Order: sequence, then structure tokens, then C-alpha cells
Amino acid sequence: MEVNLASEQELSLVFQAPLCGLVIPLEEVPDPVFAQKMVGEGLAIDPTSERLTAPCAGEIVQIHPACHALTLRHPSGVELLMHIGLDTVSLKGQGFKTLVKVGDQVEAGTPLIDFDADLIAQQVPSLISPIIILPGEKPLDFEVTYGRASTGDKGFLVVRTKGLSSQASGTANTATDGEEINSAVLTMHLPNGLHARPASLLVQASKRFSAEVQLVYQDRRANCRSLVQLLELAIPLNETFYLSATGEEKSQAIAELSRLLNEMSEEAEPTPTKRTSKDVASSADGKRLAGVTAAPGVTAGQVFILHHQELQTEEKGQGPQQELKTLFASLKNVTKALQELQSQVKISAGSAQAAIFSAHQDILEDPALLSKIEDHIDAGKSAAWSVNHVFHHEVERLENVPNELIAARANDLKDVGRRIVADILGGSLSLPELPPQSILIAEDLSPSDTAGLDRSKVVGFCTLKGGSSSHVAILARSMGIPALAAIDARALNLQPGQKVLLNATNGFLELDPAPEKLAQLMELQNSLNERRLKEEQAAHLPARTKDDHRVLVYANFASHEEADRGPGLGAEGVGLMRSEFLFLNREEAPSEEEQFQIYSHMTQAMGAERPIIIRTLDVGGDKPLAYCPIPEEENPFLGERGIRLLLKEQDLFRSQIRALLRAAQSGPIRIMLPMVTNLEEVQQAKAIIREEQVALGVGPVPVGIMVEVPAAALIADRLAQEVDFFSIGTNDLTQYVLAMDRNHPSLARQVDGLHPAVLTMIEMTTKAAHAAGIEVGVCGGTAGDLVGIPLLVGLGVEELSVSLPSVPGVKARVRELDLVACRKLAQRALTLSSAEDVRKLVKEEMPEWSTGEGKRL
Ligand code: PEP
Ligand code: MG
Repeated sequence: MEVNLASEQELSLVFQAPLCGLVIPLEEVPDPVFAQKMVGEGLAIDPTSERLTAPCAGEIVQIHPACHALTLRHPSGVELLMHIGLDTVSLKGQGFKTLVKVGDQVEAGTPLIDFDADLIAQQVPSLISPIIILPGEKPLDFEVTYGRASTGDKGFLVVRTKGLSSQASGTANTATDGEEINSAVLTMHLPNGLHARPASLLVQASKRFSAEVQLVYQDRRANCRSLVQLLELAIPLNETFYLSATGEEKSQAIAELSRLLNEMSEEAEPTPTKRTSKDVASSADGKRLAGVTAAPGVTAGQVFILHHQELQTEEKGQGPQQELKTLFASLKNVTKALQELQSQVKISAGSAQAAIFSAHQDILEDPALLSKIEDHIDAGKSAAWSVNHVFHHEVERLENVPNELIAARANDLKDVGRRIVADILGGSLSLPELPPQSILIAEDLSPSDTAGLDRSKVVGFCTLKGGSSSHVAILARSMGIPALAAIDARALNLQPGQKVLLNATNGFLELDPAPEKLAQLMELQNSLNERRLKEEQAAHLPARTKDDHRVLVYANFASHEEADRGPGLGAEGVGLMRSEFLFLNREEAPSEEEQFQIYSHMTQAMGAERPIIIRTLDVGGDKPLAYCPIPEEENPFLGERGIRLLLKEQDLFRSQIRALLRAAQSGPIRIMLPMVTNLEEVQQAKAIIREEQVALGVGPVPVGIMVEVPAAALIADRLAQEVDFFSIGTNDLTQYVLAMDRNHPSLARQVDGLHPAVLTMIEMTTKAAHAAGIEVGVCGGTAGDLVGIPLLVGLGVEELSVSLPSVPGVKARVRELDLVACRKLAQRALTLSSAEDVRKLVKEEMPEWSTGEGKRL
């Protein structure tokens, strides 16, 4: 539908950030011409990147001959003048390179000017770059999201204007951006209402659109990008509400978010268990203290009372600019720490549990919280005090929401707030040194405390707060730690070191257990610990089956520091080094030299005998890189990722290849290509590797591929002719073969690599590898699945690559196997129809495996 563009309609124009850096008010620019708005209204960015990109689609209408400033015209007629640095005109173009010319039509995100920040900074007073709004028609007003921005951040500037200039053109979408549209009436059908994880999905989805979407319930509204505001609405089951949106992509946003809300299903989660007065009364005999089962199990140990340290903050700040800098630096640190925790939990407990820490990252980005914190900072308070104050207040509000599941999220909020404050204060929140067989008693534990518990010391815990549905309880269940929540407050008065028996299954802590009972339990725990110890002692020995077939056990690394512990835990090599950790969460790509140092460090730490398979950068639309804008994709798992992206972004690829080739001169590095689908991709990548090898004048390095796309398994015989090794990525292979998102919370049980269809693909791959005489390993989660190991060995997999702590256990399991029996078992598994049947078969045929059924090591 065409719209009469000449009508006096209010427009809401959404711009994306043209640079990475700190967005500051124009008044703070140290140049009176800009600060006093003689050029016009706007904002400024103190840049940390070296490329100016287009904040919207439009036409380049002016480029200064000194190449330091450029004007872009939005189709509405509004023009943005972007001026890199102050007094930069004096450089006469030195240090600038324009990438467009006047008259060019550009898309949002198109690179406009490259500049050499180091060179410019040495010669001019400041790199602060004003962005001035030059209205075609006078803008009504504009809104800026101050603080840290990354190139491409949507909505960092919203200009509301009326009417259109003669240049205006467009469709209904652009012409009606400012007008609010509403969804149909929606009904909450989640039994527990809109609690944290569904709300977090909504936050994630709304960030994908250039639109501002509000959820309206009764007379209250919540910004769909604010987890806290959504939780505070506490919409219960069967209540009605609707969505309301403005902005460029409002119709798409309303359609997608409505669909999401209609299709949301409840993940397997117990409804909250309330402690009743009966529970408490029955506990009052003095020998037992009652609580609510957070994670079942029975264990014995000694009491350790845990008191959280109070974080003291200074109220007065050192000026808003300094405090804002401190705040954003800490937000960045905490985001990184949470991402690392999320990856660790994903490996140790699973995707659904790891999602808890992705929700914590949403809290960090919550616009409602951030703007409150910034208001306090603007009023002269310190960053630490402001965060503490705002989080404290929000925690109190959430605790009072009349929905127990939502009230339980107050603990998550508290956790995130404490992390930020601790980071600003320069401290850490680590737990004190604990004695062995500790049963922790605490007022409350945070999700991060729980995820970081040392399992060799902590055998159980009890908290005064919390409930069966808290994230702490979910984590405890997945970690297999017996735990009670809402325990009788007298627990805090117990004697440290006192022997107790924790029966979390039946909801009590026994204070004076019969010595025989205690002894029996202690014995069981000791034998488990001994087994773990024995496995670790034998970790440096090879893993051979009973009939003397050697299986290599390698480790997967997500950071180079793990290499220091690799040989000690028996890793015979690195089966997968996810090099993404080097590239994500930063504003510039790591240099060749930085990569070279890190890869070289790994070769030194692992020694000359242990192969190190380094996978080249494997990212896509779901893991965007600030310095390599990847257009948003409707389905990033099926989009431009892995090798598809590397072949397009050859600068990134070539610099990584050079670093790998150089590091390979002093250690057994192998290069692995991710997400391969076609033979041509491998040939092109190999040609690039060869070119760089010749240019560097170094020797060749083995090149292999991940087999994780079904197409690669199906043409494995042809691919095997081209490469030196295969590594089967069962995580992606399973998601693509089964057409099930590997991170989907409610499909988690079904996304099982032991499905006969996936096993068939694995068999095709191993057969092709054997026929061509190349090595074949598995580096996805199935390699650490206790039930999966005999099947993989039986299908001809020669190397299993698992998380580092799991190496000793996997070696021990391999030593219990018989290759001939594994082969027979694998052949029978291939004839079955479901993963469930496969697991049943292994359990029946190898009863000794049943204890670990489904456990990912
Ligand atoms: C896989 O897909 O199995 C794999 C190991 O790679 P990632 O989990 O990093 O996608
Ligand atoms: Mg993969």
C-alpha cells in the first residue's frame, strides 16, 4: 500500500549506531561549535572502532574533501552529518579512507569511512565524533541511548519528525513508523504465568526488530526488551493482554512476538512447592529441620555455614562521565564472565540450565534498569552505589510479586547486581575455601555460586530462602547435588563441622543421625570419590578396550588456558579448539600476532606429541561480531555461518590461517573447517591456505573438516579424498538431522545424538574415512555420553574428544569395553527406530552402563 507521504504524519525514524564506542551528550563535546549546537542538535560518540558505517539506508549527499565528515540523507529527508574527531579537517585526509561517493545509495550498515584512530589521535585534540541531525523538516524531538554502543546497535538514536521533504519516498512501513499498532488480544496460557525463561525468549525476540514493542496488561505496560518490567507485570494463567508497537518493523515484530507468545509451552518445571505450617510443625522435634526439596538425594557430611560478604559502596561519584565509563566497563566484564559461565554450564549441566545465565545477560542489558542507574549517576552518585541501589529496590519489588515463580527470580536479579558491584569494586565473589564433605547452610545461594560449587568438596546444601522452582534448584538437580530450600531458620545456628544427614528427597536435615547410617552413607560417598581419584590417577595411560583396541581420548577447549591442565588430566590431544572465544565480545578482530601467541602457547603447554585441532572461526547470525556485521537472518542456524562466512570474509580467514600456519611450525597444529556442506568449499578454503602457506614460505599443515551438516555425511566419500581428517560434530549433526533446535528448552530430551538416523550418518562418515585411510573422531556431546561411547567405538570412531574434566572418566569407560561386542551392539542400534530404543538396548546389553544413562560427561 502506498501512503500519502505529504501528509502531516508523525514519523519515528530509528537509526543504528555508526561506530562502536561511548555515546555522550553533544554538550560534553570539548568544542564549543558542537557543544553549543551551532551546527545543530545531536549527540557524539567517543569511538573505539575504526570504521564509520551507515546508520540507516539513504543517499550520500556530501563528503568533505578532507574525508573526515560525511552527510547521509534518510528517505524522509532527515540528514545526519557524521564528523569523525575534532579539528580533523586540518589533517587534509591523512588517516581517512572514504568507501563511498556522493550520490551513492547505501544500506544501513554499509561501511562509509575507514580511519586510523592511532594516527589521528596523535595529531588532533580528540577523536570524539559528533553526529548532527539536520532536519529536512524540523524534527519534533529525538531520543538517544547514551552509554556503550556497538556498531549496528539498533535504536541508539530515534528521531521523531513530522511531514516529509520532497525527497521522501517509501512504503507504508516507513511512512507510519511513529504510529502505534496493536496486536490482537492474547491469552496467557503458561501454567506459571509469564515467568523468567519465557520472558527472556520475548526479550531476545524483540531485540531482533527495529521496533519498540510494549506488552500491555490491565493498565500497565512493559517494554518487551526489559526482562524486569515484563516480570513485574506478573501476568497469571488465562489473563488477557496485548502488544503495542512503533518503529520501522512494528508489524513484523507484532506478528513474531504474538506467534511466540501463542506457541510458548511450559518447559518441564515443577510448580512451586510451598512450605506449609504442617511441614514446619513436624520438624520441631529438634532432631530434624524441615525444608522443601530443591534437588532430591540423600547424603551425609559436615555443616559449613556460609555468610555472604556485604559489598560496601561509596555513595558519591567522581563525575558522571567517569562513573558511566566505569559502569560500562564492568557491564562488559560481567557479560564476558556470564558468557563463560554459560558455556561451562552448557557442558556440565545442559543447554536448558545454561539458559539461566543467558537470562542473566538480558538483565545486564535491561534498558529500564540501565536508565535508572544512569539517572543516579547523572545525579552525582557513584556507579557502584547506583547499581546497588537500583538492584536492591528491584529485588524488593520482585520479591513482593504475588507469583512465587516470578518472586524466585529476585535471586537472579540479586546475583547479577552483586556481580556488577563486585566487578566495579575490583573484587570477586568467590566462595571461601571449603572442607571436604561440606553441607552448606546459607541464607541464600546465587545461581552463579551454585554453578561454581566444587563438587569434590560440597556434597549438599540447604538455603533458608528459595524454593523448588528457583534457578538454584534447577542447577542443583542437573548437577546431582541434594539440596533443600526454605529450611528452618535454626539451621543457621548449627555448629560448623557438626555431622548431619541430609535427606533432600524427603525434605529434612537430620541433626543427630545414627552412627551406622552415617557410616554407610559416608562409605558410599568415599567409594565414589575413590573411583574418581583412581580414574584421574590412570588418566595418563592410553585407553584400550579389553580386546586391546586403542581409542584416542582428546579434549575440547573453549579457551587456551585449558591447555595448561590438558596433559595432567590425560588429554592425548585437542580434538576441538573452538577458536570463537578469541573473536567474540570485542570490538575488533584479534590480530594475527595475538592469535599466533595464543596458538603457540597451546602448543607449548600440550607438548610436541599431542595434536591440536583448531577449528577456524565458527560464527553466524546468532553470534554476531561487532567488527564484521552479519545481516540479521530469519534463521541464523541455516544461514551464513562457519565456512560460508569465512569464504566471504576472507581478511578474517586469511589472518587466522596465517597465525595457524606460523604456530604450526613449532607444534602439531591441524586446521579444521566448520560447517562444510560442499566439496567446493573445502577446495576454495584449501586454495587460500595454500596461498598463505606459499606467501609465508612454510610447510603444509593437515586440514580436516567438521562433519556436522547431513550433506557432508552423505558425500563423506568424496570429501574424504580432499582432507586429512574428519571430526563429527554430533551437536549440529543431530539438530540438522532431526530438524530440532539444539538449544530448544522443551525439545532438549529429544535432541539426542543416539537417534538411529544420526548413528547412520556417523557410520557413513567412519566408513568413508576408513576407505580413504584418514582419521575420524567425534567432538560433539555424544562423545561424552556414557551410553553413546560403546556405540561410537562400535561404529569405528577412533578418537573421542570431550570436555577436559571428563577425559579420565571416558578413558575408564573405554577400558571396560570389548570392541567386538561394541560392533555388534552398534549394528543392532542402527536397526532401531528411536533414540529411546537405542538407550534401552545399551542398558539391557550392558547393564553396568545403566547408572550413567544419558549423562554427558
Ligand atoms: C558440534 O556441532 O557438534 C560441535 C562440536 O561444534 P559446536 O558445538 O561448537 O557447534
Ligand atoms: Mg557445530
